[in-house]
Amino acid sequence: MRYISTRGGMPPKKFSKILLGGLAPDGGLAMPEAYPKIDFRELEKLRELSYSDLAFEIISHFADDIPAPDLRDIISRTYTAESFQSDEITPLKTLEPGLHVLGLSNGPTLAFKDLAMQLLGNLFEYVLEKTGDNLNILGATSGDTGPSAEYAMRGKRSIKVFMLSPQGKMSRFQTAQMFSLQDPNIFNIAVRGVFDDCQDIVKAVSNDYAFKQKFRIGTVNSINWARIAAQIVYYFKGYFAATRSSSEQVSFAVPSGNFGNICAGHIARMMGLPIRKLILATNENDVLDEFFRTGSYRPRATEETLHTSSPSMDISKASNFERFIFDLTGRNAGRVKELWRAVEKGGDGTVNGAGSGAFDLAGTPLWEKVKEFGLVSGTSNHAARIATIRRIHEQYGVLVDPHTADGLKVGLEYREAGIPLICLETALPVKFSDSIIEAVGEEPARPAGYENIENLPQRYVVMNADADAVKAFITEQVEQRNA
Ligand SMILES: *Cc1c(COP(=O)(O)O)cnc(C)c1O
Repeated sequence: MRYISTRGGMPPKKFSKILLGGLAPDGGLAMPEAYPKIDFRELEKLRELSYSDLAFEIISHFADDIPAPDLRDIISRTYTAESFQSDEITPLKTLEPGLHVLGLSNGPTLAFKDLAMQLLGNLFEYVLEKTGDNLNILGATSGDTGPSAEYAMRGKRSIKVFMLSPQGKMSRFQTAQMFSLQDPNIFNIAVRGVFDDCQDIVKAVSNDYAFKQKFRIGTVNSINWARIAAQIVYYFKGYFAATRSSSEQVSFAVPSGNFGNICAGHIARMMGLPIRKLILATNENDVLDEFFRTGSYRPRATEETLHTSSPSMDISKASNFERFIFDLTGRNAGRVKELWRAVEKGGDGTVNGAGSGAFDLAGTPLWEKVKEFGLVSGTSNHAARIATIRRIHEQYGVLVDPHTADGLKVGLEYREAGIPLICLETALPVKFSDSIIEAVGEEPARPAGYENIENLPQRYVVMNADADAVKAFITEQVEQRNA
């Protein structure tokens, strides 16, 4: 399996060569040259497998330049009952016949991002050991990515993590998850500013090529291909748990932000998993819903991005969306390049940059084709979110987090008789206790081991929103340890 860029400007590369990279050199995203196809008989065989064996069967199609025994070992060390609380890894909860919630949030930081990030940590460690290289990961977080990345990379000798977060802007629980880590390779930088200031610093540092080269700066953001590959697995797992035979269809409802999670569902469907609908749910930041309703993709400016009570979906542009458009155009890189030239017009020319442009497919043959991909969408808002949490709790005795509630709200609007609906649970309620208290009047239960997390000693530095200060800090930490 080799990887190409959605914009056509990258010679085909193997999995390990794109693993540590972010954007392709031409500004596009890495995609496999073709999707592996899994037929009915193969599905019936996969149905019987444990999570870890299933993950190996799926991921080995994509990571075929890692020797099979090594890949199997990496995967079986990643998906353990110890890390994910049960052998099932992603247990399916049935609310009523034909309505399910797929539990993706039982990893170390209680959000679905652990399912990909834990694997990424072990894959990074493996390839860095082979080459003898080091990696310094620089990231920005508004709450879920930071803890997930830090828990995945902690204690890894060849990796350091520098994670920027807006000082005082995350929940106490999320802050404690990161700042209580005492591992010497983890550096928490609380920035006097907002999340966008943190992201701007990451961008500024990444655009300094000399610095980036010298200090081997890498990222773990959601455009990383290995994260998508890891997420494909639980669509298969959820499908098998909700069906008896691989001739049945199911639909998935997916709380969405950067289009990473649902992109994995799209790819699972392209591989042959019998998915009827992929139901994309947004919050008040509805850039993706606008596209699937009207054909117009219009990323928002930072100032237009609302701070909502499902904060992990507060995005202005959907980084992975370009992967879907690549497939929609029949893998026409020239066309993708054209469309994103329009998006980036007036901006700074990068996918995550401040583009003010847009494209509109309404009335074109491409818009007609969207239907063939089974994607539909809807939005939620604060009142609907709270009402959904309350209703699911009253009706089924199950507590869901605000993001999962957005997925359920929109998913139920598209529910069809006779088609099982699987809603993806993207975080546990304990991470967002304010909304839970508002909805049901009580604190969400805490999983074992998290009872006292806010009172543990914290390790972090505070800095102004200044890229040079962050560079100086990274220089000091890296050189000091190399000395
Ligand atoms: C990251 C995140 C999302 C959005 O997922 P994407 O892959 O960016 O679409 C939704 N819910 C939670 C809790 C998250 O952490």
